[in-house]
Amino acid sequence: MIIGSGHNGLVSAILLARAGLDVVVLEAADVIGGATRTENPFPKVPELRHSTGSYLLGLMPPELLATLDVRIPVLRRDPHYFLPTPGGLGSPYLLMGSDHAATRRQLAEFFSPADVAADDAMQAELAALREDLAPAWLAEPLPVEETAERYVRPALRQVFVDLVRGSVADHLARFDFRSELLVSMYAVTDGLSGLNAGPDDPGTGHNFLVHNMCRLPGADGTWMIAEGGMGTVSRIFAEAPGPPGRRSSPVRRSAGSTWPATRPAAWSWPTAGRWRPGSCWAPATRTG
Ligand SMILES: Cc1cc2nc3c(=O)[nH]c(=O)nc-3n(C[C@H](O)[C@H](O)[C@H](O)COP(=O)(O)OP(=O)(O)OC[C@H]3O[C@@H](n4cnc5c(N)ncnc54)[C@H](O)[C@@H]3O)c2cc1C
Repeated sequence: MIIGSGHNGLVSAILLARAGLDVVVLEAADVIGGATRTENPFPKVPELRHSTGSYLLGLMPPELLATLDVRIPVLRRDPHYFLPTPGGLGSPYLLMGSDHAATRRQLAEFFSPADVAADDAMQAELAALREDLAPAWLAEPLPVEETAERYVRPALRQVFVDLVRGSVADHLARFDFRSELLVSMYAVTDGLSGLNAGPDDPGTGHNFLVHNMCRLPGADGTWMIAEGGMGTVSRIFAEAPGPPGRRSSPVRRSAGSTWPATRPAAWSWPTAGRWRPGSCWAPATRTG
């Protein structure tokens, strides 16, 4: 029995069911998915759907999607950063996206060659960390130093440990950016997002690291948009093929409900070819 249909609950349910267990997923909310949900939150524009929990897909390991045999359609935000500067028309700006040559051109034109070099060095280091840490995401978590020892190339081990334990400001200072605006952009967008913290606070380095660790197709580190909103993620998991030899999709909704807006009672793999009783719902709501 799995309490909660967030993406972790749904993935666990699929894996356990495919391993032959009878699985029931209980959900207290009106919609499945936990933070991976898409809703219609605007009464005046009821058809406008919106990701009301998390909003980008970043750390979903591609290997996990392969194991589950599902494909989540993702789109790249392009550009993913816009950095304006004070002043009138013609003031420096940066539109950072998938076109690396254009990004470098803008960095050189509006900022300085030293900023281009700093950015190149930082991006190369992030790419190396992304590559080294790839197998760690689905492995049992280890203490930071052991993670560094096991997965990270020797030259970057201390960088990794310092990032995880330290501040984004200290990390960015290593690259000798000349523009404070660029440093601020990186610190705010990747180091401080979702945190009640300042750039000098320990832990913001870790936030910066994970926001550059996306390995989904076409990501190049930056987090991606799930096409159709984050509810696409939970819908795809909920509809994933069931265990071999069993009927239909592995996760089911209660009879009569219209996906996903109405209150589900419980989902179960149809071990006996039918729904588990809706009363499965009760314990979950009491504990919730
Ligand atoms: C503001 C914010 C923004 C975020 N943005 C992103 C983002 O853009 N991208 C990203 O990757 N991560 C983001 N995160 C982190 C992400 O939301 C979490 O890592 C993720 O939700 C964890 O998934 P989960 O399945 O463990 O739990 P959840 O998504 O929290 O799901 C838990 C589910 O369990 C249900 N539940 C709880 N208790 C009970 C009970 N007693 N009985 C029945 N059901 C119960 C809940 O209703 C919920 O549906 C964000 C987090 C926050 C707070």
